[in-house]
Amino acid sequence: RVSEVAIVGRPNVGKSTLVNRILGRREAVVEDIPGVTRDRVSYSASWSGRRFSVVDTGGWEPDAKGLQQAVAAQAERAMNTADVIVVVVDATVGATATDEAVARVLRRSKTPVILVANKVDSERLEAETASLWSLGLGEPYPVSAAHGRGAGDLLDVILAKL
Ligand code: GDP
Ligand code: MG
Repeated sequence: RVSEVAIVGRPNVGKSTLVNRILGRREAVVEDIPGVTRDRVSYSASWSGRRFSVVDTGGWEPDAKGLQQAVAAQAERAMNTADVIVVVVDATVGATATDEAVARVLRRSKTPVILVANKVDSERLEAETASLWSLGLGEPYPVSAAHGRGAGDLLDVILAKL
């Protein structure tokens, strides 16, 4: 069985963009409107000669009342199926109530969890990531999924835990 990396987090933080960055191709659907990603989509990826699968998550309605529960349920599911969980937050927004709900689930994960601070498009924005330590998920890794900043370092961290 090929190892699985699950990408979780609330809508619009850049999960699908990060998946595409990991794949090195545009396969996961990126939208300015949250909610377009199907429930769970698996892709084949490789890095440093190692093959693994990446699972993009989503599938919630844009205005769903149960958004927090839906995102938390994806995190719950990832704990049962993935070998590494990457939880993505938007560093330009900071931790929201939904991010905190997901973190609450993942703090009791036995599966390794990597916290990604996405949308860190410039060095100047790196300072914004310090507040994300409050999620209790360890060190936030600054990444710009859109521009590729920090992506190689993140993949090295993922592989080290796989
Ligand atoms: P998802 O709902 O979490 O899968 O998020 P998407 O990947 O669909 O991205 C949501 C929006 O955030 C899109 O408009 C992306 O172009 C944008 N986005 C994603 N990653 C970055 C990034 O690193 N920097 C910036 N500035 N925007 C990003
Ligand atoms: Mg998506």
